[in-house]
Amino acid sequence: MKIVSTVAEVRKEVNEWKKAGLSVGFVPTMGYLHEGHESLIKKAVEQNDAVVVSIFVNPMQFGPTEDLASYPRDLEKDAELCENAGAKLIFHPEPEEMYDEGFCSYVDMNGLTNALCGLSRPVHFRGVCTVVNKLFNIVKPDRAYFGEKDAQQLAVVKRMVKDLNMDLEIIGCPIIREADGLAKSSRNTYLSAESRKQAVILSKSIFMGKKMIEDGERDAAKVISAMKDMINSVSLTEIDYVEIVDVNTMKSIDTIKGDILCAIAVNVGGEARLIDNFMMTVND
Ligand code: AMP
Repeated sequence: MKIVSTVAEVRKEVNEWKKAGLSVGFVPTMGYLHEGHESLIKKAVEQNDAVVVSIFVNPMQFGPTEDLASYPRDLEKDAELCENAGAKLIFHPEPEEMYDEGFCSYVDMNGLTNALCGLSRPVHFRGVCTVVNKLFNIVKPDRAYFGEKDAQQLAVVKRMVKDLNMDLEIIGCPIIREADGLAKSSRNTYLSAESRKQAVILSKSIFMGKKMIEDGERDAAKVISAMKDMINSVSLTEIDYVEIVDVNTMKSIDTIKGDILCAIAVNVGGEARLIDNFMMTVND
């Protein structure tokens, strides 16, 4: 496995693979990799001849008061995980390699991003769409892998690929969780011991909301209210949102029907803003 930091080096490597007829899988990440990322890489290795992992904490997707500077980084450990999972190349650029002084082109979206995380993180999805578009142009993958953990991001990227006729397949992968249910996240490292204990309430509320719908509840407000009560039952949580939306439009729904996404964002202990969700198809 190689680690490179320039666009030219990625292009050289990938062009050689393509000349040899190899298919290319791609996993974009911000690093500090865990089993969630690993599951994406392993899926990509299964389905492609060669896999690129990008590790880039993208400044453009962070708001001015967010955690860009403190975002955890550990390239050595990440490289070990990528190599063991079977990746062939890590692309680890400096911000200057991605955004030179004159940079002024963006990919923006009007619709799916005006909800959920897009409301509390107004510049986030413009940054995500722009960097993912750039990375796709650099790596030219046949398939790219995204976690359902970031369900809105997955929907946004799928929509962008469709809208802009990008020639690759987007593959969603299930949420990987800690033993107690908490969705794995690089940001979990921000949590103190007490906050970590309380953070399990996110996944508990997700499992409870899902069970309510499985048991026949179709009133979105009732599910949301029960989930909020559960999250508020511990002291260190502050809810950003608990929403049930149509997964294709990200618009709130009153009656649970069709392809739905129930998504939550909760600040825990003032230390980390964590997200979780479930998706379901309801056909009755
Ligand atoms: P990040 O490094 O947080 O930008 O995540 C990179 C990719 O890994 C995104 O597609 C995430 O959705 C995915 N991912 C992060 N955490 C998990 C998880 N717990 N389970 C599955 N995928 C995940």
